[in-house]
Amino acid sequence: MYFIANWKMYGNLSSLNSLDKVIKFSKSKEINKGRLIYCPPYTLISSFSKKFQNCQIGIGAQNCHENDDYGPHTGFINPRMLKNIGAQFVIIGHSENRKKGENDSLINLKIKSALKAKLKVIFCIGETLIEKKRKKTRLILSRQIKNGLKNIKNNSNIFIAYEPVWAIGTGIIPKSNDLLKTVEFIKNKFKKKKPRVLYGGSVSSENIKNLKKINNIDGYLIGGASQNSKKFIDIVKKTYS
Ligand code: PEP
Repeated sequence: MYFIANWKMYGNLSSLNSLDKVIKFSKSKEINKGRLIYCPPYTLISSFSKKFQNCQIGIGAQNCHENDDYGPHTGFINPRMLKNIGAQFVIIGHSENRKKGENDSLINLKIKSALKAKLKVIFCIGETLIEKKRKKTRLILSRQIKNGLKNIKNNSNIFIAYEPVWAIGTGIIPKSNDLLKTVEFIKNKFKKKKPRVLYGGSVSSENIKNLKKINNIDGYLIGGASQNSKKFIDIVKKTYS
């Protein structure tokens, strides 16, 4: 199981101290088969990567530019630069960035570029509340998958994070049976190799007891709760207890 911490636009150098607990936990037996990955803001990737030098915790970024090479793009970071400072993963297509105008074709370019730089991609998809109410979830997910992964033949370095937009930061999670079926639907889109599918949206140390019963989920993308080491560790512990 993968536990991916999305720190969004939170954290500064003093946050490094809060990682000691997680590092200790990552070396204990309690972590079981869990794999921890932190995606802090760009400004902290290098420091996190140094901090995690002697443990198995992975590190990723929350976005990247669509060009895999250097160039005149003020304020942006390409995947090569991320790789150079220790990132192994990158989140692409998060709904907070889609909301700001990132469309499927831009996301497709970003994914290709990240794969070229040998980063593993956490590809976010999910429907809005209106789309859900209009029963368009499957249509939206199909479109996001088809266009986002256009001309990408090998999906072995792609994780799909199903994040219903209405579940992010709201404390609301999908009904278990709906989630089970949606994850199955996503996996069935892939005829040959099924990708790992993560769930994201208000995962907490309280609702993990229910989420863990859904047996086709390969891990979680965790926003708010991941910024508190105790809560993050609790989620992992409860997944295996
Ligand atoms: C996210 O934004 O990726 C996320 C899952 O956030 P939260 O856990 O806070 O809902």
